Formats: sequence, C-alpha cells, structure tokens
Amino acid sequence: MRETGHTRSSARIVLGQTLSFGVTHGEVTHEEKGAVAIGADGRIAWAGPAEKLPAEWRGVPADDFGNRIVMPGFIDAHIHFPQYRMLAAPGKDLLDWLRRFTFPEESRYASPEYAAQAAEIFLDRLLQHGTTAAMAFCSVHKASADALFAAAEKRGMALIAGKTMMDRNAIPEVQDTPELGARESEELYRIWHGRARLRYAVTPRFAVTSTDAQLAASGELLKSLPDALLQTHLSESPGEIAFIRELFPDTKDYTDVYDRYGLLSERSFFAHGVHLSDRECAKLSETGSTVIHCATSNAFLGSGIMKFGHLRKAGRAVKVGLATDVGGGTSYSMLTTLGETYKLQMLGGCKPSAFELFHMATRGNARLLKLDHEMGSLEPGKFADLVVLDPWATPVLASRQEISESLEDVLFSLMILGDDRAVAAAYAAGALLHTKSSSARTGASHA
Ligand SMILES: [Zn+2]
Repeated sequence: MRETGHTRSSARIVLGQTLSFGVTHGEVTHEEKGAVAIGADGRIAWAGPAEKLPAEWRGVPADDFGNRIVMPGFIDAHIHFPQYRMLAAPGKDLLDWLRRFTFPEESRYASPEYAAQAAEIFLDRLLQHGTTAAMAFCSVHKASADALFAAAEKRGMALIAGKTMMDRNAIPEVQDTPELGARESEELYRIWHGRARLRYAVTPRFAVTSTDAQLAASGELLKSLPDALLQTHLSESPGEIAFIRELFPDTKDYTDVYDRYGLLSERSFFAHGVHLSDRECAKLSETGSTVIHCATSNAFLGSGIMKFGHLRKAGRAVKVGLATDVGGGTSYSMLTTLGETYKLQMLGGCKPSAFELFHMATRGNARLLKLDHEMGSLEPGKFADLVVLDPWATPVLASRQEISESLEDVLFSLMILGDDRAVAAAYAAGALLHTKSSSARTGASHA
C-alpha cells in the first residue's frame, strides 16, 4: 500500500472471539479467546488463541472486545454511492424508480463539493454497518468518482468504483456520450487504479441506458485497461427485460447483448441476474462472469426471486456474490442483507446455512473481486479489515443468545435479528474507524 497521508495506527492487538473462513465455508477457524496482532503497516501479523500470542506482542496496546466476535469486515459487492440518502423511495418498479427518484438525485453529483460531502457520509455509513470494502457505482460525473476515491484513500479503505456511463433513456443531466464516457473512465483509471487500495471498474449502468456505441466502448476499455473490472446490471426486472428485447431485437437474450460487446469475462460483475435462462447461465459460467445477488433490492422493487439453486446448477454453475444495492436495497447492513438473502432463498427452495452466507459476505466476495490476497480472512499478510459483532447488542438478540446452541446458531441469530446496532467496531487496514463507545476497552496494555 502506498502511504497516503492517512494517519495509520501503530501496532496493536485486537482481542475477542475470533472467526475466519478458509476458501470454502466448511473451513471455519474459531477461537473463543482469540487475538489478532496488527503491525504498524495495517496488516495482520499473527492471529490465533490469545494464550499463544508470541512473546514479542506482549505489552503492545490492545483493544479488548471480550466475547464479541472479531471477524473479517464485510465486503459489499454492489452499491451506489450517489444513492446514499435515497433508500426507501417507493417506485412502481425498477424503471419507474430510476426515472422518478434516482436520476434526479444522481444529477446533484455534478457538483464536486456536494460529491465530496456525500462521499464522507457514505463511507462513514459503510463502516458503521461493518462494511470495510465495497464495489460501488458513482454517478455519471467524473467528480463523483474522484470524490469517492479520495475519501476511501484517506481512510485506508479498499474500494472498487467507476464513473457510471449512460448515453440514452435518462434525463440529460445524467448522460454522457460514448466518447466522453470512455475518455473520463480512462482518465479515472490512470489516476486511481492501483493507488493505495483502490481499483477501477468500467461502469456502463445497463444496456437500457447505453447505446450500442457505448457498450462497444465499454468492451474496448475492459480489453485495453489491464486489471480493470467491469460492473453493470443484468436481468433484474420483467419490465427491464421487455425493454431490452425492444432495444436489441437481434440478440438472443439480455446476456447476449453484453456478450456481443465483449463484456462477459472473469473481471465482469453483473448485479441481480434474477430471470436468467439456462442458456444465459451457461454463457456466464463459461466466461467466468459473476452475478451479484441483492436480496433487499429485489424484494423492495418487486423484481423477483433470484434462486441460488438455478444459478448453481451442476455443469454450468455461475459464481454468485452478495450485496446491498443501496439505494434500491433497503439497508446498508450486510447482516440484514444476509437475513433477507436467507428468506428469499427459502422462498426459492434452498436453505443456505449461516456459515455459507457469512463466508459469502467476507472471503467469498473477496475472492470473486480478486481481493482475497489482501482481505477476507484473518491471515498474516492480509490487511486488518475487521468487524466486531456483538451478539447481545439488543434486548431481542440478548434473549436469543440464552438459547443459542453453537457458533453457527449465534451467527444465524445475528443475520436474522442484527443490523448496525450489532456492529461494535470496524477497522480498515488496522485503523479503528468506527466504535460504539461502550463496546471495548481500547488501547489498554495486553499483559
Ligand atoms: Zn444496482
């Protein structure tokens, strides 16, 4: 990580009930009394049972969270920065919601001052909810991406983001052109990609709001910018899919539109994928593309139920990540998102376990976003991006813990009943950036 002027913490130890997953959710590392030793570089130097803490760490200042759960911070794989305050906007469906609420709100981000203020609020809010890294859409304005990257750099947070590209079917204030969108995207990539913990994603909003020329330009960018990612939306709502059929009458289906312009790849992330056909799943699978499931958004906008069972069919399994999709999503909380994912999957005929969902929100998303070399688990060498969860945070949770039977049962109760109230603290690259004052004895010397 390049030093950025952000005041990094010196070495410290975090004590609590530690939890981390391996590559699969079946590999659980759990210490009732665990310790995470964090070097002055913000990376984990050691993790394990507190009683085995190496001698050189004795006497280093410790943040003691008692029996609260210390685990890798949540990673939100799809969220919209310029929608930070427009949760709970009651659209009839996706397209109505975009027209009536979203485009007017996003038009404010033409102002660099407005965008800069919003970026501070947005990132603070992520941390308050235990989210330490995200893949985010900015508005169509280059200034909004500059503002968000700068604010993330200041906090030492990992962030993947991109300026949205839209050149039709939106109000003029939030439109660019294929040439302008490509040029500004490339400029942003050159400035921010690989700087501190930041990465760039080419971001055509979706095929409804990008012409053939803009989708083609997006494909060219993905090809020409090494390691850049791509984020867009795919197969979210029935009205949207019908519109795509009108706009692209010659294509086989929605996925084929993106395929035609070279947008399916190992580096490509498609939010929603609610109504995908077998053919589309096979194509996404074959190209290594990822679908990001956004449960609260899909329920709120009445988009439909994306079924894990369908996406993961043997022989053509599609990689699936999890996200809030704020502001179509109704909560910043990945805990709430896991709970709502559980409910939607139950309606869709599958019962994911708490371990599976917590894995998806941490190491799973890290792997999909190609960030697992630096986050997603409590392993030496990774950045200390941590969330501390309090299973007793509310009266309802506290009562529930009286009958909780196992660690997995506690996690299950947290995702069904928990939200930001259950987030005791959050660290990004070893810096304690959010804490509830009553939650920890911080800075005490660990003897
Ligand atoms: Zn979205």
